[in-house]
Order: sequence, then C-alpha cells, then structure tokens
Amino acid sequence: MKIQSQILVALGLGAKRNWHIFFAIIAGAIVGALFPAANHPTVNEIFTFAGQVFIRLIQMVVIPLVVSAIIVGIASLGDGKQLGKIGLKMVLYYAFVTIAAVIIGAVLGGIFSPGTNLEGYISPQQAMEAQQQFNATAAAQKENITNMYLNMIPSNPIHSLANGDMVPIIIFVFILGCALAVIGEINRPVVSFFESIFASTMKITDWIMVLAMPGIFALTAASVSNYGLSVFGDISKFLILIFVGFILQLTVVYPLLVKLFSKLNIWSIYRASAEAMMVAFGTASSSATLPVTIACCERRVGISNKICSFVLPLGATMNMDATALFQTICVIFLTQAYGIQLDFLTIVMVCLFAIVASSTCAGIPGAALITIALVLKILGLTPEQLVQGFAILFTIDRIVDMTRTMLNVTSDIVVASVIADNENEIDRELLSNQETWKEVV
Ligand code: ASP
Repeated sequence: MKIQSQILVALGLGAKRNWHIFFAIIAGAIVGALFPAANHPTVNEIFTFAGQVFIRLIQMVVIPLVVSAIIVGIASLGDGKQLGKIGLKMVLYYAFVTIAAVIIGAVLGGIFSPGTNLEGYISPQQAMEAQQQFNATAAAQKENITNMYLNMIPSNPIHSLANGDMVPIIIFVFILGCALAVIGEINRPVVSFFESIFASTMKITDWIMVLAMPGIFALTAASVSNYGLSVFGDISKFLILIFVGFILQLTVVYPLLVKLFSKLNIWSIYRASAEAMMVAFGTASSSATLPVTIACCERRVGISNKICSFVLPLGATMNMDATALFQTICVIFLTQAYGIQLDFLTIVMVCLFAIVASSTCAGIPGAALITIALVLKILGLTPEQLVQGFAILFTIDRIVDMTRTMLNVTSDIVVASVIADNENEIDRELLSNQETWKEVV
C-alpha cells in the first residue's frame, strides 16, 4: 500500500474509532448511572463480564506482538557497526526523555497524592489484602534482592514465554534481535517469520479493536454503576497531574534534549511534526502512526531515510516516555488508594520498572494498563487484587491514551532529529523553510 493510502487508512480508522469511543464512554456513563449496582446486580455483572472479555482479548496478543516487534525492530538496524553507533545514541536519548518522565511522575505523584481521597471506592477487605500482600513481598524482597535480579535472566526462555514473565522475555528477545542483526543475510528466514507474526498480531489487534466500542461501553457502565458519576470528579486531581506531567515533557524535557545535544530549533520540529501528532491523537497507536511519523520526518524535518528507518520503528515500539510517566503516577495512585505506603527506595524501583514496562509496551491503544502489571509485580500485587482501582483507570484511559500516544510519537521524532543532526543526516534548510515542506497528509 502506498504511504498516502496508509495515512488515509490510519486517519480514517482513528476518526471513526474515536467518535465511537467517545459515544461509548458517554453512553456507558448514562447507562451505568441508570442501573446502579446496588439495585441491579445482574446488569452490573453482565457489564463486568463483557468488559473482562475485551480486556482478556487484548491481553491475548501482547506477548506475540511485543516479541515480534522487538526482534524485527532490532534486526532492521543492519550491520554491527551501525547497530553500535546509532543504537547507542538512540538508547541514550530515549533514556534521557524516559528517565525525566518517571522522575516527573514520581515527584508529582509524591507531592500531590492523587489517590488519597478514594477510600470510598475500594472495599476495606480488598485494601487490607493488598496491604498484607505488599508487606509480605517487601519483606521477602529485602532478603532476596539478588535472586530477583537473577530471575530476570531467563534460564529457559520458553518457560518465561509460557509464564508471561515479561522482563526475562524482553532480555532474551533483545539479545536474539542483536544476534540476528549482526549475522547478516542468513537471518532472513527468522526475521521474515517474525515480520509475519508482527503483521498478523497487528491485524488481530485491529479486529479486537472493533470491539473497543462495546468493550469500553461495558467497562464504563460497570464502573459508573458501581461508583456513580462522581468518579470523574474524584479523580480529577489524578487527571490534572498526568496532563501537567505531559506538558512538562513537551515544554521542558524535549527542548532541553534538543538544546544540549543539537543545534536544532525545537519549535520548528514541533511544527513539522503536527500531522504525526494529530494522527497519534486520533488512533491512540504509535504503530498505526508510524507511516505518518516517517513521512513528517523525511519530508518536513529533513531527516535522511537511513536514520528514519532505524530510529522510528524502534521508537514506536520501545520509546514510550509518556507511558512511563503515566504508569508511575498510576502505581502511586493505586497504592495510595489501597492505603499502601511506599518508601523512597520502593518508589525508585517503581520508576525503574515503569521504564522497563513502558518499553515493553506495544504501540497499540490501551497497552499501558496491561504492561503496568509488570510494575505491580515488584510490589507483590496483581491487577486482579486491585480490580476496583483498575476499573477507575479503565474508565478514563482512552482520553489519556490519546494524549500520551501523541507525546510518545513526538519524542520519537525529537530523538530522531537530534541523532540526525549529530550524524549530519538532516537537511536544515528544509526544516527551517516551511515554504519548501512537502505534502504529508
Ligand atoms: N497507546 C500508546 C501508544 O501507542 C501505548 C500506551 O501507552 O498504551 O503509544
């Protein structure tokens, strides 16, 4: 398919889905308010069941999608020398924006305590169980911290795959991807195999997303029927904090990266990326936006195809700074809501694991709330134990997802621009002269 047609498909899907999703949230909120769980328990059970079906379907594709995306992304880096040079810069710059994001998330979450007024939504029984579980894990982890790191190295990758242990899986596929990248042409059968897996899991994701409307309707209805509409007001502090964090990334962190490591003008980069930002907002998927991201970078920012095709596909899968910021605030929000106290070292662990979890996140709608399980795991908690808190997060996730995807894509473009500037692979004339910009959408 030509790039123009891909863009139109992405835009079309995005617009269509977002109107549907918007409608689903409003309709779910109204129906949920009309059928409070206390008076209509069966209706509430049906909504909860339908919502769970949607969530489980998304969970089903996560492992094949993450594995194939990482292998294909790294293998596309080409020979070993290029992999080393550009790869190292990419990792450093992506780390810069993501570490800044989790620090912002932790500071905002720690200072403004977004989850402290939510005791009414969480049953005391569940809160007590979650606290006990957390305390037991914290004690066990202090005794056995080295084992925890040791367990990240998979002695049997197939076992890790079957168990859904994300960190060992990522470590294995990262090493496999590097090996495939350096062995040359002989890698074709395996890389082609994973290209097919990636394409087909993306297709399955598309099919599952057809259910996004009923799925989100059911989740919103179940949540509102449990808690009433006041849920949106009660978590407004949480929402505001997330958006403040996103604005800080956009106005402080990315400009700082550009200033420190290049001679480019950040505002020209933003102007040149406008189309990609809008498509990201519409689709809530970094992967679906990738063709537009590449088009903006090549035809407006002036980045060479060589840098674009290395840095952007990997960024669309692995660089998720806004997702990391969101996950850090979410974990702080959830633990506060369940009355769990996190000490400084545990918050540092949460930040580190949010970095890992966000980079394992596929660039698809709603992925952040699935890989967040990885961060909770180090606290000894599971999404099932925190189901009431998760119901609140799912209710508001779509609008936050659209915004964080826009940011994830923007940081991919900013990092690609800085690398291109370092490598002299950017047409500065093109970037600074809007008159010469070519059509993107
Ligand atoms: N939807 C996001 C993206 O594609 C991932 C997430 O944070 O859920 O970038």
